[in-house]
Amino acid sequence: MTPKEKWNTIEKENQEKLLNNVWCSNCKCTKIINYRIYNDSSGIVLHGNCDKCGKKVTRVIEIN
Ligand SMILES: [Zn+2]
Repeated sequence: MTPKEKWNTIEKENQEKLLNNVWCSNCKCTKIINYRIYNDSSGIVLHGNCDKCGKKVTRVIEIN
């Protein structure tokens, strides 16, 4: 599966929760925007920017 296909196995509702619960060292809990999806050893990882300050943020998502 491609990273995008793995992401699409997650329900829309849960995708929203994941996108809105990303750690930014400036803003603490924030939303990730302009993200791209890559493979990771534990599943997938999103690389994007913080919605508030624009800093680079990442979110690892474990997928079995
Ligand atoms: Zn931020």
